[in-house]
Amino acid sequence: MINYHENGIKASDYEYSGDREALIALKKIPVIDKLLSAYLDFTIKSGMFVQVQQNCFRVTKETYPRVYELYQICLNRLNMKQEPSLYIDLNYEYNAYATGIGSPFIVVNSSMVDDCTDGELMALMGHELGHINSSHVLYHNLARNLMVLLTSHLKALAPLISTGTVFALFDWQRKSEYTADRAGMIAAGGLQPSVDLMLRLMGKGEVQKYVDLSLDTAMKQYQDFNISKDSFIGKFLYVTQTAAMGHPWSIQRIKALSDWSKTENYAGVVSEIQRLESAEG
Ligand SMILES: [Zn+2]
Repeated sequence: MINYHENGIKASDYEYSGDREALIALKKIPVIDKLLSAYLDFTIKSGMFVQVQQNCFRVTKETYPRVYELYQICLNRLNMKQEPSLYIDLNYEYNAYATGIGSPFIVVNSSMVDDCTDGELMALMGHELGHINSSHVLYHNLARNLMVLLTSHLKALAPLISTGTVFALFDWQRKSEYTADRAGMIAAGGLQPSVDLMLRLMGKGEVQKYVDLSLDTAMKQYQDFNISKDSFIGKFLYVTQTAAMGHPWSIQRIKALSDWSKTENYAGVVSEIQRLESAEG
């Protein structure tokens, strides 16, 4: 059950500033409205959300007690006003996403529920709640379905491809991931579960018997990357390889989260959550 507090934390208390600025800039691009209305038309005609809601189990106290309990903790730590529906999809690929229009909901693949520790699962669900809390979902859906959309509405939307709008959308999407990662860390109660989740997504689940993957090894890799990024070829690779990506590189995300965990901003958010939790007993 959610205990929303009017004076509790809000998304604006932890959002990555680059995310908010890029979204404001994105909304000012005139053609973005045309893309959005084409996307809404496409989703209604394809009935894509109904498929999830009819094919996947919804998480309740009865269906998935462990996930339900962890989800309630996430909702309370993030001080969410509403509880988005949560679904489990029988799928062995590591993935989760927030989707929907009007009333967004979250889908977590069954492999994540099976393999993740409680902390990792909270970091994962908190990440998706972070996307909903910061109103990312509509534009994320647009980015995710852009290629299908451009194919189905090719004549009307094709001229937009050359405007840079597409790259502006992907640029904002990558920045929005930093905000969602922060929400995941808040929901999980600390840095370690979020780092463990990202290491798992980088392959730790598959290879953990053979290698030592840790925050230290990730930071070492970050330092090695930084040396090469200073060179002309490093900069060139960074720009060309990330321009069309929906997520920043994993090592960059770990570094950003690790840095944020040491800030006064994060400490203030944590102390506010602890104050409310102790007041509720
Ligand atoms: Zn995300």
